[in-house]
Amino acid sequence: MTLPFPELASDLDDIARQGLYRSRRVIASPQGINLEIDGKTVVNFCSNDYLGLANHADVVNAFKAGADRYGVGSGSAHLICGHSAAHHALEEELAEFTGRDRALLFSTGYMANIGVISALLGRGDAVFEDRLNHASLLDGGLLSGARFKRYAHADAADLGTKLDKALGRKLVVTDGVFSMDGDFAPLDELAVAAKKHGAWLMVDDAHGLGVIGERGGGIVEHYGLSQDDVPVLMGTLGKGLGTFGAFVAGSELLIETLIQKARTYIYTTALPASVAEATRTSLKIAIEESWRRDKLKQLSERFRRGAGQLGLQVMESSSAIQPILIGDSQRAVDISNALLNAGFLVSAIRPPTVPQGSARLRVTFSALHEQQHVDRLLDALGKAIVGCK
Ligand SMILES: *Cc1c(COP(=O)(O)O)cnc(C)c1O
Repeated sequence: MTLPFPELASDLDDIARQGLYRSRRVIASPQGINLEIDGKTVVNFCSNDYLGLANHADVVNAFKAGADRYGVGSGSAHLICGHSAAHHALEEELAEFTGRDRALLFSTGYMANIGVISALLGRGDAVFEDRLNHASLLDGGLLSGARFKRYAHADAADLGTKLDKALGRKLVVTDGVFSMDGDFAPLDELAVAAKKHGAWLMVDDAHGLGVIGERGGGIVEHYGLSQDDVPVLMGTLGKGLGTFGAFVAGSELLIETLIQKARTYIYTTALPASVAEATRTSLKIAIEESWRRDKLKQLSERFRRGAGQLGLQVMESSSAIQPILIGDSQRAVDISNALLNAGFLVSAIRPPTVPQGSARLRVTFSALHEQQHVDRLLDALGKAIVGCK
């Protein structure tokens, strides 16, 4: 008997030959600085739990109290009978936190991006995306049916030229903090270009929310941009805030449009209410405990200094994401494996997540790391790089 899809096996072989095969590691501990993998404890440098809230005792307790009050499942979509008082309160708190009129919860960031772009655009419209945007933004743009234009990374002038030629409704879409590079989008310039051409600007702040800005308000707080400058603000709850889910914040008109039209909002089960309760607590901690943001800055700066002294190619980043450019995919994997043997978990990021020839080690910091963790990582990195030719 011949199997269907006979080419699948040779596709997998190709992926492996290019050093692009992906596999999972089974984690037996909570998220934190130390992770247990295969009975061994390793120091974690690849989580997006930047503020160290994923296993914070108060957040865990709020989650348990939420489950005691609401049970586990939310029972249905928000528009049927799944929208609990916990969800509603969290939406109000997120609107206040971001300085927007309203916020709307989505079950994941991926779904938020797909739902929002398709709700706002269709055939005859145009979407403009930074070349290095997250996959979910690219997919959202493609799925919307609008004409799809990519502009050069962080290049408002190139965006302007492309906007000049476009017809129909125009939406400019960008990561706030680029997920695999750690640099900031030039949001002030993008906002000016968008306004000049009557376009809306949508920012995905998955990696800035809670982490950037005095109060953790993210990239829009950093640039001081209002709802008028950035009409569509998307944030995730599973990174800096340490829980799960996502939201979109903006005007009454935007949110009501999404409730009517965003298919990934309408046709999916609401997050568990207990996750919303946990997030309400983690949001409070994120706002109040600015030491977590200060600590991240100190750790990142210490790492950048040390990596520079080792002659490593650090990238232009002032966030908690500090990638080391390696280039070759297999070499990035070899170095990542050597680091794991030395007790450090650092992920190798390869194409297609990043452009061809730009494989990298994506080092991320948590407010729970100490300076000695950074120093030990640098020491191990120096040895691993020399050992992997
Ligand atoms: C992680 C991420 C997402 C997806 O969010 P999830 O809640 O994990 O689905 C979207 N955009 C960016 C930039 C991200 O880094």
